[in-house]
Amino acid sequence: MRLEEIRSKFLSYFEAKEHTIVPSAPMVVKNDPTLMFINAGMVPFKEYFLGNAVAKNKRVTDTQKCLRVSGKHNDLDEVGVDTYHHTMFEMLGNWSFGDYFKKEAIAWSWELLTEVYGINKENLYVTIFEGDEKDGVPRDSESYDFWKEWIDEDRIIEANKEDNFWEMGEMGPCGPCAEIHVDIRSDEEKQKVDGKSLVNKDHPHVIEVWNLVFIQFNRKADGSLEKLPATHIDTGMGLERLAMVLQGKQSNYDIDLFQTLIGQVVKQSGFEYGKDETTDIALRVIADHVRAIAFSIADGQLPSNTGAGYVIRRILRRAVRYGYQTLKMHEPFLSPLSKVLIQEMGEAFPELEDNKTLIENVIREEEMSFFKTLEQGIKRMDVIISNQKEQQQKEIQGEQVFELYDTYGFPFDLTELMAREAGLSVDQKGFEKALQVQKDRSRSATSIKTDDWTEIRKDEKEEFIGYDHLEAEVKITRYRKV
Ligand code: ATP
Ligand code: MG
Ligand code: MG
Ligand code: MG
Repeated sequence: MRLEEIRSKFLSYFEAKEHTIVPSAPMVVKNDPTLMFINAGMVPFKEYFLGNAVAKNKRVTDTQKCLRVSGKHNDLDEVGVDTYHHTMFEMLGNWSFGDYFKKEAIAWSWELLTEVYGINKENLYVTIFEGDEKDGVPRDSESYDFWKEWIDEDRIIEANKEDNFWEMGEMGPCGPCAEIHVDIRSDEEKQKVDGKSLVNKDHPHVIEVWNLVFIQFNRKADGSLEKLPATHIDTGMGLERLAMVLQGKQSNYDIDLFQTLIGQVVKQSGFEYGKDETTDIALRVIADHVRAIAFSIADGQLPSNTGAGYVIRRILRRAVRYGYQTLKMHEPFLSPLSKVLIQEMGEAFPELEDNKTLIENVIREEEMSFFKTLEQGIKRMDVIISNQKEQQQKEIQGEQVFELYDTYGFPFDLTELMAREAGLSVDQKGFEKALQVQKDRSRSATSIKTDDWTEIRKDEKEEFIGYDHLEAEVKITRYRKV
C-alpha cells in the first residue's frame, strides 16, 4: 500500500463515521508569539478546546503537516540517526469537539488498524494512564475497560504522566491518553525478549504509532483539576510510521517516498544506501530535510537570518553540510531533490505544485550561497578540532563557535553537531556571549549611522569574507578590501 493510499484510507474511514475531511493547516504559524511551527495536529483546533470558539463540524479528520525542530518538541538530534523521527511529518488525526468520546475513539482506532489496514493483533500493545495520586489525577480505568473489549488484558500497559497524560500548558484543557504501539521485530528477535517490556523504551522496532488523547479536565491556576463540561477527542498518528508498519519495513526511510528520495541522492553522490552508517545518516537526513524545507517555503516561510526563517536556514545548511562533506556532493543537490519531492507529494499537497519554481529557486540560491563559505568553514573546523585534540581539550570555545557562525555562516547547532561527530562539545554560553557583543556593537553602529547597508564601492576589489546577517533591524554584508 503506497503512502497516498494509506493516507486516503484513514481519511475515508473517518469520513464514513461522519467526520468532515479538512485540509492541513499551513505548517508555518503566523500571529502566535508562542509558536513558530505547528508541532501537533491539535494546534489548529486549540481554540475549540480552550472554549474560545465553537466548532462548526463536531467531527473532523485530517492529515496535519507538523515540524518538530524547536521548543517543547525538538526531535532534530534524532533525525537520521534513528529511523522513526522526522523533522517534518504528517500527523493523521480524528477529532471530536464535544461529541463522541473514549468508547468510539478506541473502537474505531482498533477497527481501522486491525481490519482496514490488517495489522496483526499479536503485534499490538496499548498503554493507558496509570494515575498520579500526588497530582490528584485518577487512573484511566474507563479506557482500560474499553480496550479490554478488543485486546488481551496482558497487552494493556499502564504508563506514567510523562507518556500518557497530555496538557496544553501549565493551565487549561488536559487529559489522559492511550497510545498504540506496534512490534515490528523479526520472529527471531521476538523470541529473545518479550515485546511488552520494550514498549515506551525507545526501541526502534517496538514503536508508538498512535496517540489518542481524551480531553476531559481543565487545570486551574492553583494546579487543581476540574471536569470539563464538554469532553473532546484529539488523536495523532504518524503517517510515515504507519506506512513503515504496513509496508513491512523496519525503518521509516524504507517506505516508498523516502526510497525514491534516497535513490535520487544515491544517484547523484554515488554512495549506496545500507553500506555504511555514516553515509546512511547523511542520506536519511537529506531525504528528511528536503521535505521540511520545501513545505516551509510552500507555506510562505523563506529561509532567513531571524525567527522561523532561521530555523529553515539551519535545517537547510545542516542538509547541505551532510551532502557536501559526508557525501562529497559539491554541486547543488537539494534543489534537484526538491523537484523529485514535488513529483511525489504534489498531488496530495497542491501548495507544492503551485510554488514549484519558487521552491527550487530559493533552495538553489541558499545552497549556492552556503557553498561559498562551507569549504573554508570545514577547513577551519578541522583546524579547531585538531588543535583541541592536541591540547586534549574537550570543549570548543564560544569565540571559535562564533567565528564559524559569523564568518562561515555555520549555525550554532551545525558546529555542535560537527563537534559531536569528532567527540567534542561546544561552549554554548560563550557563543551566546559573543553573539550578544556583536548585536550590541551593530546596534550602537546603527544609532550613529543612518544607512543599514554597507556600500560596496565599484572601484575597489572586494573579497567575500562573511555571510550576511539580518538581525531584526540591521543588515550587514561583510567584505574586505583587497
Ligand atoms: P515519540 O515518543 O516517538 O517521540 P511522541 O510521543 O513525541 O512520539 P506524539 O506527540 O504523541 O509523539 O505524536 C503523535 C504521533 O506522531 C506519534 O505517535 C508518532 O506516530 C508521530 N510522531 C511524533 N513525533 C514524530 C516525529 N518526529 N517524526 C515522525 N513521527 C512522529
Ligand atoms: Mg517525541
Ligand atoms: Mg511518546
Ligand atoms: Mg506520544
